[in-house]
Amino acid sequence: MAKITLKNLRHSYYPNPKGPDDFALKEVDLDWQDGGAYALLGPSGCGKSTLLNIISGLLEPSEGQILFDGQDVTKLPPDQRDIAQVFQFPVIYDTMTVRQNLAFPLKNRGVDPATIEKRVAEIAEMLEVTDILDRKAAGLSPDNKQKISMGRGLVRDDVNVVMFDEPLTVIDPHLKWKLRTKLKELHQRVSHTMIYVTHDQTEALTFADQVVVMQDGEVVQIGTPEELFERPAHTFVGHFIGSPGMNVLPATIKDGQALFNGTAVALEGPIHPGTKGTLEIGIRPEFVSLGDTGIAGTVSRVSDVGRHAVVQVTIADTKISAVVNGTPPATGDTVHLQLTAAQTRLYADGWIASTPAQKESAA
Ligand code: ADP
Ligand code: MG
Repeated sequence: MAKITLKNLRHSYYPNPKGPDDFALKEVDLDWQDGGAYALLGPSGCGKSTLLNIISGLLEPSEGQILFDGQDVTKLPPDQRDIAQVFQFPVIYDTMTVRQNLAFPLKNRGVDPATIEKRVAEIAEMLEVTDILDRKAAGLSPDNKQKISMGRGLVRDDVNVVMFDEPLTVIDPHLKWKLRTKLKELHQRVSHTMIYVTHDQTEALTFADQVVVMQDGEVVQIGTPEELFERPAHTFVGHFIGSPGMNVLPATIKDGQALFNGTAVALEGPIHPGTKGTLEIGIRPEFVSLGDTGIAGTVSRVSDVGRHAVVQVTIADTKISAVVNGTPPATGDTVHLQLTAAQTRLYADGWIASTPAQKESAA
């Protein structure tokens, strides 16, 4: 196992890239700590698979380096990197039995038969495929084929990292939840470094200790699920994580104060000096409440989501969602919104541009 470092990585699929738009990865500098459970989260096309394939060696980056424990492996072929990669669609040998498929990565490395038998039995039990071990892979359902594919990725215990590229795409929804939980358990047991790629925030947040959020070939934030929820470094993270996502309101600055629709809005703390560009105020619906005073607007939609309601309020042309416990107002009502200052942040050109107020020192 190893710490994996990505240094000044850039990748273009074009032979002569002209501008940033020609790069599938723009500039990635990242450390994956040994033993971490990571999710790589971002929308389709943002460069997740490109990044994984560079780590595994299926792809050589246009620029930059990959280091395993400080050693440059950029030019090493995949089979010399000791990596397990599970793809979106099953990669198994149809003519082999399930047992032979699971044993293959070990047999290939000359592991002794007794150890192989033990490891295969463990993995099979974890994936609940013990009863089909002697069936030919060809006849299996897509679910089971993908489970075997995952098993092949998990069977070796001497790998640097196990990477999953949207592995649950073909899996039935109720099984998805179960497998994800199993992977998490497995990580806690074997403590391999694991990188789990997904475009689904629920998958990312339940699996990972650290989530790496990507957009457009760039890493926009790395943090625990709580950190990403609490303090999105970019409005994209605010949108992408949370349901509904963070409210983003057009803003201006006057005399060091943030204004929305001409009204001063208290922020978490001071605005970064020299802030300019397109300004927005970000606040999650969980921190917007209805009161007797505050910014007035009209309720444009009320949706019931189980234990609470999401009330959408329109002010000028901006829609703001609030999570409301108790009886919600009706569509068309005039309400007043109160924003929790400590959870209200300023963003400039998408990036956070306010600093939390200094905590009072415990003097
Ligand atoms: P993700 O896995 O996040 O969906 P990818 O890494 O597959 O994203 O793709 C990132 C970008 O690179 C996309 O714009 C995609 O169209 C482009 N791309 C991916 N693979 C190739 C390829 N083999 N040739 C050219 N462009 C590619
Ligand atoms: Mg992909």
